[in-house]
Amino acid sequence: MKTLLVTGGAGFIGSALVRHLIAETDYRVVNVDALTYAGNLDSVAGVAQDERYTFEPVDICDAAAVAGLFETYAPDGVIHLAAESHVDRSIDGPAAFVQTNVVGTFTLLDAARRYAAQRDTPFRFLHVSTDEVYGTLGATGLFTEETPYAPNSPYSASKAASDHLARAYHHTYGLDVVTTNCSNNYGPYQFPEKLLPVVILKALAGEPIPVYGTGANIRDWLFVDDHVRAIVAAFERGAAGETYNVGGHNEWTNLDVVRAVCGLLDELAPAGAPHERLITFVTDRPGHDARYAIDASRIERTLGWTPRETFETGLRKTVRWYLDNGAWTERVLSGAYRMERLGAG
Ligand code: NAD
Repeated sequence: MKTLLVTGGAGFIGSALVRHLIAETDYRVVNVDALTYAGNLDSVAGVAQDERYTFEPVDICDAAAVAGLFETYAPDGVIHLAAESHVDRSIDGPAAFVQTNVVGTFTLLDAARRYAAQRDTPFRFLHVSTDEVYGTLGATGLFTEETPYAPNSPYSASKAASDHLARAYHHTYGLDVVTTNCSNNYGPYQFPEKLLPVVILKALAGEPIPVYGTGANIRDWLFVDDHVRAIVAAFERGAAGETYNVGGHNEWTNLDVVRAVCGLLDELAPAGAPHERLITFVTDRPGHDARYAIDASRIERTLGWTPRETFETGLRKTVRWYLDNGAWTERVLSGAYRMERLGAG
């Protein structure tokens, strides 16, 4: 039985990965998470009693604790998702992004290469990153793996730095590193500071639904479980040192996404319909990237990965989940954050 360290496994995508690994594979999973505001063990409660699952409350910037994890668990691989992940927060407080995304990734990579050097069996480090490292697109074109890095926010700059460290640890030390760069994810268990849960929860509360600027910014949306399958494919079958773009062929303006969610709520929670009347345009995010779109042909061609969900099916599942899981939302909103506007500059 192989053992994986999954960092950030109490977050949105990490918890989906942990649930998938326990339900669908034979891996032993060590969930390494410092439980910041974005981490929530309720998101993995369904697998917490499984004998193949362990939780370790470790900060990835703590070199001694990270080295201890390698010693204790002798993992066959790391899947690294722990990060500060919200662009708006990176505008208000960039230091935490440099600390976790750059220093934390360095700390993990360095512990991993020391550990891998002593092993005589294969070890792989899968680094999970974002398409935001490529900057912004005009009206046409797609991000390929060869697109030059041009990050525009403190968040994307810190992720770009972590990608460069991951690349360097492969080229310099021969560590088996694979990197994935994925577009915007949506789905269940996403912290209510990101677009989809904000829209759903504001609409259900009958409060103004904030849309930045004119809502014309375009994102390429991917259902979280499709991202999880791409991560597993890249971990198991990707080429060492390779990077893989992951995306849904699914470009929408923010305004159209908001309208689509409102339409689903009109159908599934008709009290307060039409929810579109709550749409309120607010000051744009400083430096807001205009358009992201992914060319995912490398992972499709070489690893046989394709998204399973359409936006229609994925959005419906997501809205349904938030309607059915009010207790989760209440718990994650019981801390300091109360869905106030962040990152207005
Ligand atoms: P998230 O904010 O929901 O979760 C991050 C998790 O990391 C939390 O559980 C948090 O407690 C943990 N964490 C933060 N700092 C830590 C530290 N110092 N030590 C240990 N744990 C720490 O993020 P997410 O949306 O699930 O994103 C996961 C990864 O995927 C990130 O690396 C992000 O850059 C990347 N990504 C996200 C998206 C997206 O649309 N959400 C798209 C592409 C890539």
